[in-house]
Amino acid sequence: MEKKQKSGTLCVQGGWKPKKGEPRVVPIYQSTTFKYDNSEQMARLFDLKDSGYFYTRLQNPTNDAVAAKIAALEGGVAAMLTSSGQAASFYAVFNICEAGDHFISSSTIYGGTYNLFAVTMKKMGIECTFVDPDSSDEEIQKAFRPNTKCVFGETISNPGGVVLDIERFAQLAHRNGVPLIIDNTFATPIHCRPFEWGADIVTHSTTKYMDGHATAVGGCIVDSGRFPWMEHADKFPGLCSPDESYHGLTYAESFGAGAYITKATAQLMRDLGSIQSPENAFLLNIGLETLHLRMKQHCKNAQRVAEFLQSDPRVAWVNYAGLPEDKYHALAEKYLPEGGCGVIAFGLKGTREDAIRFMDSLKMICIVTHVADARTCVLHPASHTHRQLSDEQLREAGVAPDLIRLSVGIEDVDDILADIQQALDESTQG
Ligand SMILES: *Cc1c(COP(=O)(O)O)cnc(C)c1O
Repeated sequence: MEKKQKSGTLCVQGGWKPKKGEPRVVPIYQSTTFKYDNSEQMARLFDLKDSGYFYTRLQNPTNDAVAAKIAALEGGVAAMLTSSGQAASFYAVFNICEAGDHFISSSTIYGGTYNLFAVTMKKMGIECTFVDPDSSDEEIQKAFRPNTKCVFGETISNPGGVVLDIERFAQLAHRNGVPLIIDNTFATPIHCRPFEWGADIVTHSTTKYMDGHATAVGGCIVDSGRFPWMEHADKFPGLCSPDESYHGLTYAESFGAGAYITKATAQLMRDLGSIQSPENAFLLNIGLETLHLRMKQHCKNAQRVAEFLQSDPRVAWVNYAGLPEDKYHALAEKYLPEGGCGVIAFGLKGTREDAIRFMDSLKMICIVTHVADARTCVLHPASHTHRQLSDEQLREAGVAPDLIRLSVGIEDVDDILADIQQALDESTQG
């Protein structure tokens, strides 16, 4: 039995154990297909009686090595890569919900996820109730219905910086016989491992800190293997009753702790096909090798920038859980004792136009539709990522109209501060 390695070691070496003469570095298996000796071998793969590769839409060795690394970092039993974070969120919920079902989500989530849940999945007959993550247990309990199948939330919300009380949400979900799914994109398993607080499934947009270099869009789903599907078999027929599209195989019986990811691969990936390309998985793996180092630097820089903004009289408010005055500081001390992430939300005194003038005055820091990579960047969600949301939906999602999302990178912090200082001077002159 191998001793459990620490996060930094798993970042560098996890998931890939080459044998004699094999590549030291996870190679790109740039092949759609894999060779077998006879028809019987191939048939057993299709029946899920043997494990092995046959077609990259279902599984690929590069992707599997990288998924195994992320599973190890999160402390889960199995993981799969998806083509994007959106695909990961969709598959994670759709794997256990179907038309006529209902689920609950924290209202403070990424705008794209909000839209997926509120609009697109509704068209598929799956209804989502959004709850304020700070509301009482009694309030949240009221949102549960007999057909509720899961609860969803973000460890640290994008863009508002709301820290979720994961343990409380897990207790509420479990009391109602359903799993808790946590989007752990912003904290990453370096700073929070939601399974340790009772979450059952974790999703990621690997596009963000995990890749870290803004090179490849991707996602990941990790299963803790702990949710007792069979104890709630009536709620989860997809996992606990025979799958006619797989010769009557019952996932929870045949695959035990691996049931959830096996079903998501064998059914959803087979039919919907949002696979991550092996080349993107290769790039993601290079990012993961330095995740533990980068997260430290992101947080160290962001803490300095948050303190700087807080002390500037031209700044109206700052949300960063690392600040002792922050509304979520106590939750951050519990769930993120070594730091959260590099993303700060703040507002300037003045109008929406002042916010735009400030962003346009930045020189090194660019306005980009991205967050959580090595380069410091900035975005105005109300005009950009969350443009499709009404003012009411914006408020529900914890996004003030004047909110500027500053994603602090890993440059030298003095240069980041200098750019912010000169942009504030420039934009508040007249
Ligand atoms: C970006 C993001 C997503 C969506 O991921 P993509 O890779 O862009 O599809 C989901 N959740 C969070 C928290 C994100 O920041």
